Amino acid sequence: MSVIILTELEEGQIKKTSLEAIYYGSKVAEMIGVEAVSLAIGEAEAGDLGVAGAYGANSVMHAGGQELKDANIVAYADILTAAATQVGAKVIVTPKSSLADAVVARTAGALKAGVAGNVTDLPDLSNGFEVTRSVFTGKAFAKTSLSSDVKILAIKKNAITPVTTDATATVSEFTAPVSDIAGKAKVTDTMKATGTVSLPEADLVVSGGRGLKGPEHWQPLLDLADALGATTACSKPVSDLDWRPHHEHVGQTGVKIAPNLYIACGISGAIQHLAGVNSSKVIVVINTDPEAPFFKAADYGIVGDAFEVLPKLTAAVKALK
Ligand code: FAD
Repeated sequence: MSVIILTELEEGQIKKTSLEAIYYGSKVAEMIGVEAVSLAIGEAEAGDLGVAGAYGANSVMHAGGQELKDANIVAYADILTAAATQVGAKVIVTPKSSLADAVVARTAGALKAGVAGNVTDLPDLSNGFEVTRSVFTGKAFAKTSLSSDVKILAIKKNAITPVTTDATATVSEFTAPVSDIAGKAKVTDTMKATGTVSLPEADLVVSGGRGLKGPEHWQPLLDLADALGATTACSKPVSDLDWRPHHEHVGQTGVKIAPNLYIACGISGAIQHLAGVNSSKVIVVINTDPEAPFFKAADYGIVGDAFEVLPKLTAAVKALK
């Protein structure tokens, strides 16, 4: 019996959210006295997967191959179901991501598993199997008790801080049959955001709103992001107006993020925007209007003109570096 951890890859490397899930899964495995097995799906070198050991995995099962290159949900769910069955996993851990959400739904159906999403803490085993989940876009916590034989836990981004070791996990190849239906949806082309870390994985995010007044005024924000090594984001109207690309739009209808630091420049803080960013550990708001609603959600607020504040912040960051 093992705890199995669905491990997502990006360009052959384990994603940060999956490393958090591996660490979490290894702690659960310790609690119930079994091994932690990372199931990495997609193309990667064995050497790059061994790092799962530093996060507590005893071993890695690697399902590679061309047909798994493009994150096919049906194929991933079939592989996860087969791997979980093979190792007799009673607990399956996944990162919380749009891919994992869809994979979890299918896997839970196949294994008749109970599911808890957005889990923030290790389970309480004193009276069954109870986990704490973040709900209502981070405004509340819910205790959820799982009584199914197989349990699936999706771990909230940035809720767990892994402590690493020098260990390396052994990697073995894993194959399992994939249903014909997996081949019915094929990725024919991909346009990737280039440059920095993708928004869902980013630790540092600098974001701009309509207060920046036009696409030609983005340079001060880009300079700060560059100095910090941060990923850039924007509010919905900004992407609707084509001032910034749509993949940068964060919020209820955009990307949900949970960085360690979110700097919001010229964004009012509407509830739909906050829904996608309020899991950020530290929020800094720069706004000319002291009554802007965002200040209520901010850890630090600067009442001021973004065009004056941003260059000063950039200079300060550069001086510190
Ligand atoms: P504004 O509301 O126009 O705010 C601009 C801010 O900039 C103001 O607070 C102003 O004081 C400040 N400002 C002006 N000049 C400066 C300056 N020089 N320096 C500093 N500050 C300055 N929005 C999202 O962002 N994400 C979503 O996912 C999303 N989903 C939605 C879903 C639905 C169903 C609906 C109805 C709305 C959604 N919205 C979403 C829109 C949301 O309600 C707000 O309209 C939007 O977030 C406002 O964007 P903003 O803060 O950039 O612009």
